[in-house]
Amino acid sequence: MSTLRFHAIKESLKHKPIHIEENERRSAIFGSNVFNEATMRQYLTKEAYNSVMDANQNGSKIDRIVADHISTGMKEWAIAKGATHYTHWFQPLTGATAEKHDAFFETIGNGLSIEKFAGNQLVQQEPDASSFPHGGIRNTFEARGYTAWDPTSPAFIYGTTLCIPTVFVAYTGEALDYKTPLLRALQAIDSAAVAVCKYFDKNVKKVNASLGWEQEYFLIDSTLADSRPDIVLTGRTLLGHSPAKGQQLDDHYFGSIPNRALAYMRDLETECMLLGIPVKTRHNEVAPNQFELAPIYDEANLAVDHNSLLMDVMGKIADRHNFKVLFHEKPFAGVNGSGKHNNWSLSTDTGVNLLGPGKTPMSNLQFLTFFINTIKAVNDNEELLRAAIASASNDHRLGANEAPPAIISVFIGEQLTRVLNELENVTNGKLSPEEKTDLKLNVVGKIPDVLLDNTDRNRTSPFAFTGNKFEFRAVGSKANCASAMTVLNSIVARQLIDFKVEVDALIDKKDMKKDDAVFNVLREYIKKSKNILFEGNGYGEAWHKEAKKRGLSNNKTTPEALKAKISKKALALFEDLGVMNKIESKARYEIEMEEYVLRIQIEGRVLGDIARNHVVPTAVRYQNILIENVKGLKEIYGTNFKKFAKEQLNLIEEISGHIESINSNVTKLINERKKANLVEDIEEKALDYCHKVKPIFDDIRYHCDKLELLVDDELWPLTKYRELLFTR
Ligand code: ADP
Ligand code: MG
Repeated sequence: MSTLRFHAIKESLKHKPIHIEENERRSAIFGSNVFNEATMRQYLTKEAYNSVMDANQNGSKIDRIVADHISTGMKEWAIAKGATHYTHWFQPLTGATAEKHDAFFETIGNGLSIEKFAGNQLVQQEPDASSFPHGGIRNTFEARGYTAWDPTSPAFIYGTTLCIPTVFVAYTGEALDYKTPLLRALQAIDSAAVAVCKYFDKNVKKVNASLGWEQEYFLIDSTLADSRPDIVLTGRTLLGHSPAKGQQLDDHYFGSIPNRALAYMRDLETECMLLGIPVKTRHNEVAPNQFELAPIYDEANLAVDHNSLLMDVMGKIADRHNFKVLFHEKPFAGVNGSGKHNNWSLSTDTGVNLLGPGKTPMSNLQFLTFFINTIKAVNDNEELLRAAIASASNDHRLGANEAPPAIISVFIGEQLTRVLNELENVTNGKLSPEEKTDLKLNVVGKIPDVLLDNTDRNRTSPFAFTGNKFEFRAVGSKANCASAMTVLNSIVARQLIDFKVEVDALIDKKDMKKDDAVFNVLREYIKKSKNILFEGNGYGEAWHKEAKKRGLSNNKTTPEALKAKISKKALALFEDLGVMNKIESKARYEIEMEEYVLRIQIEGRVLGDIARNHVVPTAVRYQNILIENVKGLKEIYGTNFKKFAKEQLNLIEEISGHIESINSNVTKLINERKKANLVEDIEEKALDYCHKVKPIFDDIRYHCDKLELLVDDELWPLTKYRELLFTR
């Protein structure tokens, strides 16, 4: 084993599980670092408290003077809990969270100082965050960007810093972050869904979108991970031969959690409890050293914040345990990658889950309304939904026979398929009393309210109905859920608005009863949405053929997928709903294409470096040993030496072949990159990186991995897959 690897492994073996004392009930500490309702009641005046609650529930504005009261209460609470600094906490389009800390401490002259946190410091800040991606928005308009308080997501203390969730927008109002469009989309679905709910229950005043994410990740010993330049710089391995044992025995899945990982999880969960992140489930995933963590679902904006915060916290706690968390969708070839299922539903302020079947025919008609409208929304916008989850890293996963394909389809299960088939046959026009009774008794009335256990769990579907929610499974593990949630809530909002117009038209112009009108419109939607419904194996080749026949998109790579974001239809959809104007949509497209190029560019550079400067020199060293050996054999056996040196001579030749291939491919890679870099147009450039640069990675990797199998283990400089994946 090379000295480098030897030391890394020796170090990693010293990393024993950290013992965690856990003597407090989790419910007792839950949310204790959050400025939640209970804390607000304690620290705020009644007026200030009501003002925050009103802003939270109804989106009303907070008065400047009241803001001063709120900030003072917040400061008192934070200082009492040991905080020294505050920060506006936001989610710029880099994908990571951002913060710039300021101390509460202020001098007031004469050598005196106080702790201060004024209302305007709470409400708005102007971080000079000019290096965040903006897609041209800040060039063409104003250079300034500012952060503004989002009172719908509570402030929290992390470490010794009071964090205030904020939006990040340009001076002219264009969104520069993930949160702003999400909040707008949530507002759009709220009003669209409330309007539709009124058909069934006049008391509904608010509809919240809910999100429950399931975070998958790898946990790798930090010393081993740090010994790999590819993991350090790109978050994934760019080469490495599969170990003799991978995941074929499935002995890791749901297996007992290794001690070290468990200690990490417990530490993490405690931190999550303090931060009010309601984590509930933890288990081993399919691949070795791969795990999953899931919370109880929450209102979508809060759930997105929690996921972003969690990913950050996970990294920090990992440092304490000498682990590195890998969120990349495909850190290791040959074993499963990671995803982040987004469980989504809609619930009313009257306590009804609109995607959960009810107990009466009427509540089931409401359920079917939202259920079918969601299917129609996905059917009409499948390409946009695919675009929402596109990234260089998620490209490795989608369609790799372990995750849903790049084709979007909806799975609803046998029972609901039958219901839709029945509904498809309802009379065109007014329904007869007999037909209505029949529908109520035998179709709508027969949907059991515990579909949960009856829905088949087709794990190969990217968008599956699972009893009382839809589960969007194609989201990447590294992604900010806001992207997927903004698109999903927007397309369903658009659909619900259209639905209401159609139903109202039938009621007003055709003099139909409300139920008749609803049945009539739903019937047409079922007919129009058939293309998107698929119950079979999403991993199979047959589905690819079938999907093509149906005209569904199959955008396998990010540059191809992202185009849907700037289609006329998408631009209009976001603009009409007030989610994003055209400038914002186009800016996002540019940023994501640019990010794609940069990711592939960095990977290309790192791979070229490792192949040329680590792998090839090692192969040469080993080859020299072989050459010495052959020379020695020649000395002993003279002309007869070939009889004894046959294998060595073959190896020498084989190694030369691989070295040659690596070097020529690295040169080719550099040249293709140079050519692509000269391309001005971002779309053309991204396509070049995708189709001309990236494929060379595979050729280089192939030869490096072959050398890994040939070269003396003693000399191999890179920590091997078996060491990365099986060290506990
Ligand atoms: P799986 O079998 O995929 O692990 P689970 O039933 O355990 O699915 O649920 C996974 C996630 O779905 C959890 O985070 C859970 O809180 C969330 N979830 C459950 N009901 C809803 C709902 N109505 N809306 C949104 N998310 C939900
Ligand atoms: Mg799931």
